Amino acid sequence: MAREIPSVFGSKFYHEMPLVAYENQSWGNVKWQASNTLTLHPGAHALHYGSTCFEGMKAFYHEDGKVVIFRLEQHIARLRKSAQLLYMPVPEEALLKEMIVEVVRRSAEEIPEFPGSLYLRPTLIGTDPVIGKAATPSESAYLYVLASPVGDYFTQGAQMRVLIETQNARCAPHMGRIKSGGNYASALHWILKAKQEHNAQQVLFCPNGNIQETGASNFMIIHDKRIITPALSDEFLHGVTRNSVLVAAKARGFSVEERAVSVAELSSLIAQGAEAVLTGTAAVISPVSSFIIDGKEIAVQSQQQALALRQLITDIQYGRSEDVHQWLTVVN
Ligand SMILES: *Cc1c(COP(=O)(O)O)cnc(C)c1O
Repeated sequence: MAREIPSVFGSKFYHEMPLVAYENQSWGNVKWQASNTLTLHPGAHALHYGSTCFEGMKAFYHEDGKVVIFRLEQHIARLRKSAQLLYMPVPEEALLKEMIVEVVRRSAEEIPEFPGSLYLRPTLIGTDPVIGKAATPSESAYLYVLASPVGDYFTQGAQMRVLIETQNARCAPHMGRIKSGGNYASALHWILKAKQEHNAQQVLFCPNGNIQETGASNFMIIHDKRIITPALSDEFLHGVTRNSVLVAAKARGFSVEERAVSVAELSSLIAQGAEAVLTGTAAVISPVSSFIIDGKEIAVQSQQQALALRQLITDIQYGRSEDVHQWLTVVN
């Protein structure tokens, strides 16, 4: 049973989860309960008006028995930012940290070995049972942390055909940097359409020809030891993987350009032999195999630098190289 990897990513959960309620302007005590049931008023604010946000991070089991969480502080800070921007109760840093660390400790025996991991999903939902609150924030909330043993989301050599979408945005511009449920619902139509019409695995949203991100990952171009990626804005998610790749690459002598990147520049760089990647916690780095631009497919020639950068990050995560940037929180 221990360290088993389910075939579908995120489909199996550690059997219990910590949950804490916010009411009367304060957080209560952490309760441990079964992770397969949540009792909620059917009129709860989250179910009607989208007061939800979440995080996605990973814990890793090292060969020497150590268990670590990758970039815990950054993920906690981002959930707090998401909550603040949604006018939801903001989880206390120490409380959330203790909940995450404790669920990793308890489930440590079930963390899959390399190349698997334990995916952690802190979730915050508004629970006010008042359907008249469409234009009012929820004053009560639940915060809980799901833990899901996962395999390697990344498959080397897998097709990654990315449709360039220049008409539509993934979500409303002011919502982009919030990791919130409604944003995924908002992107779904374009993703399904791209799948159906072009057999594309992902959509790269580039409203007005300016590159932002895909449905759930950030975007980078790698060319001759240069990394070019859109500068952070309110319009897309500030990925922790994005930051990790930029920091690790800089330390390896890459130059990093965070700035506006147009579809025209992307086309020209790909024609010159540049690589392109998607970054996110689940797969770390996924090389793009081709782009579909204005109905024309353009192949990306190489994945060599992408795979090298990917290994730079995974070596730190699995304790195979020194944690020089102090990204790991040891829980045992
Ligand atoms: C989670 C997410 C990312 C990647 O963020 P990481 O912190 O690297 O996992 C990028 N874009 C969107 C829309 C996301 O939801």
